[in-house]
Amino acid sequence: MQIYANPRHAAHDGRQEMFRGKLVPCHEVPARLEHVLAELGRRPLGEIQAPPPVPRALLEAVHAPRYLRFLETAWDEWVALDAANAALDALPSVWPVRGFRADVEPDNFAARLGLYSFDAGTPLTAGTWAAAEAGAACAAAAATAVTGGARAALALTRPPGHHAGHDFFGGYCFVNNAAVAAQALRDGGARRVAVLDVDYHHGNGTQSLFYERADVLTVSIHGDPRTEYPFYLGHADEIGAGHGLGCNLNLPLPAGTDFAGWRQALDAALARIAAFAPDALVVALGVDTYEGDPISRFRLASADYLTVGAAIAGAGLPTVFTLEGGYAVAAMGVNVVNVLEGFEAAAR
Ligand SMILES: [Zn+2]
Repeated sequence: MQIYANPRHAAHDGRQEMFRGKLVPCHEVPARLEHVLAELGRRPLGEIQAPPPVPRALLEAVHAPRYLRFLETAWDEWVALDAANAALDALPSVWPVRGFRADVEPDNFAARLGLYSFDAGTPLTAGTWAAAEAGAACAAAAATAVTGGARAALALTRPPGHHAGHDFFGGYCFVNNAAVAAQALRDGGARRVAVLDVDYHHGNGTQSLFYERADVLTVSIHGDPRTEYPFYLGHADEIGAGHGLGCNLNLPLPAGTDFAGWRQALDAALARIAAFAPDALVVALGVDTYEGDPISRFRLASADYLTVGAAIAGAGLPTVFTLEGGYAVAAMGVNVVNVLEGFEAAAR
């Protein structure tokens, strides 16, 4: 397996997020990826490489140029407002909901921070853009490897990406790495690409990016949005629109679902993907489905992830993995590498 690690991920190191009414230490921390790298040291699956820079045109094929420009310059603007801001994170607190205008970009920094976000749990920090851009480079490089004939490639993306949409961040995500990989696979000649999102949370960003496209099937297995974040998308009746009608499948499951129930949803997802007959697969790999996850409520055990990887390999498709959620930090390495080891064993 070709593996691309983001050398700048640790530059994104948020201090606090708004969580259940309080500012608490961030759940999405650099140690998450360090545990994955440590486990890959113990159970090597391939050489770990740094990616080449991501082409700007690829980023702009996924995200709005004005949004990317904002992410790039936001930290400098934040500190220019007040030098003391350098010791804080930028957290949004005002948003343009229904009836407000999103076409006019305000001059006010806080207003733009809200325009381009959807929650107060995703701090923008000094190193956010560097980390997000280099993470997208990992996703692009992994797609290039698969386009070049690799059976599978892993993008060790951090921050995660699947909640980020065309022009908004949230859910700890800034650049949608799974979408970058899918677009790069399309640009590389794949006629159809499927994205399978196995993170605990619905991949709202990925769904919305491809919702009206027939060339990318998006499938997500996740906690029911009636009770689980991101709440406002992810229902079973969202099936795509326009050209993309029938090209989105949501499999929401109740909190508390165990592996037997989750596995049934995975089988349904893989059947839908097989029917779509894609040339390549992107797996948005979150392991916050783990029973010990502090902010999620499925009940998968560490050993189950070997089975998950083997089942995904059974699709028989060239596969890019992007790293998404997983907040039981110490278990993150074992759980992620179990998926990959299960995949590799079954793909041989
Ligand atoms: Zn998640």
